[in-house]
Amino acid sequence: MKIEFKKIPSSGVDFETSIGDLRFYGIAKKISENLVNCKGVIEGSLRHHCDRCGEEFSRKLKDNIEIFANKGIYKDDGELINLIEFLDDYLNFDTILQSELESYKCDYIYCENCNKY
Ligand SMILES: [Zn+2]
Repeated sequence: MKIEFKKIPSSGVDFETSIGDLRFYGIAKKISENLVNCKGVIEGSLRHHCDRCGEEFSRKLKDNIEIFANKGIYKDDGELINLIEFLDDYLNFDTILQSELESYKCDYIYCENCNKY
């Protein structure tokens, strides 16, 4: 799902997108000319390989997410964590979800069996 930056109001607009069994939904609000705040929830399940035994299992997720989306390269001073830059006129929520997905895959996760020890 994509929304043109200029169509995102400061009062906020609902968004929803999904990849596989993961859903990402919430509200996107314009906070300055090029900057949009996206607050929402990532919910669903993710296939994951156990980092101890390699067993594949399904991991349930429900995470509150807050991300800033900037149209173009972010130039302001001050560090913003969780900033994603979009180099065209569209805020693409799939890109945000995809990048969160990548970070979940970097987590060290053990399956139920390995968690017992
Ligand atoms: Zn395991």
